[in-house]
Amino acid sequence: MDKSLFFRLSFIALWALFGVVRGYYGRRTKTHGTVAGVIEKLKMAEEDMGVGFKAITAVITAVGAVGLILYLLSPPWWTWTLIPLGEWVQWLGIAAALAPIPFIIWVHHHLDKQWSIALEIQQDHRLITTGPYRYVRHPMYLGIFVYTAGLMMISLDLLVILFFAFSIWVNYRRIPREEQMLIEEFGEEYIEYIKASGRLLPRFQRDHT
Ligand code: SAH
Repeated sequence: MDKSLFFRLSFIALWALFGVVRGYYGRRTKTHGTVAGVIEKLKMAEEDMGVGFKAITAVITAVGAVGLILYLLSPPWWTWTLIPLGEWVQWLGIAAALAPIPFIIWVHHHLDKQWSIALEIQQDHRLITTGPYRYVRHPMYLGIFVYTAGLMMISLDLLVILFFAFSIWVNYRRIPREEQMLIEEFGEEYIEYIKASGRLLPRFQRDHT
């Protein structure tokens, strides 16, 4: 099989695998169980972006979507977005995208019904500090960032990279707001949790202050 085709098929397979995991846990949370439910959540997630940021997001998403389709179809006249790096980067990308999948399943298993693609406090929302949440406060973002970096490496395509790098940045920006929301909801309990955990990476040093 042509190598480029092989990597593009791997890209699609890894995307589909992620989709299956998200779909499965989305159904479990009920609120993400239908397409209409997901669209509603996406709108909620968009609400707290500023107007300017919404416009930038729309442009990058549109350009990225076209780039993604061109990457997947790979017509012979579309080569300027390809980054000439070694094939080993793409193999590493497959490993980087595959490795976080079991981790993300573990995260979903613990976050369970508190999961949302929007920032929100749900009915009977519990603070989760078990499983991966014992060590880091945002294991899902961590897993998704590594997975996404893997897809970027497999593609070695400028527009695909732009698209996914932007999505990483959008999620990264949410972290302080998410923590603020959880502090408002759980108060001292979340503040104590912050002291005992790392944000994206586990903290190895206990501070004794
Ligand atoms: N940032 C987390 C969760 C992402 S899902 C992670 O990366 O693993 C986003 C939702 O998770 C938000 O709506 C928020 O209400 C909820 N959330 C985040 N951390 C939580 C925690 N420790 N316990 C319960 N809910 C949490």
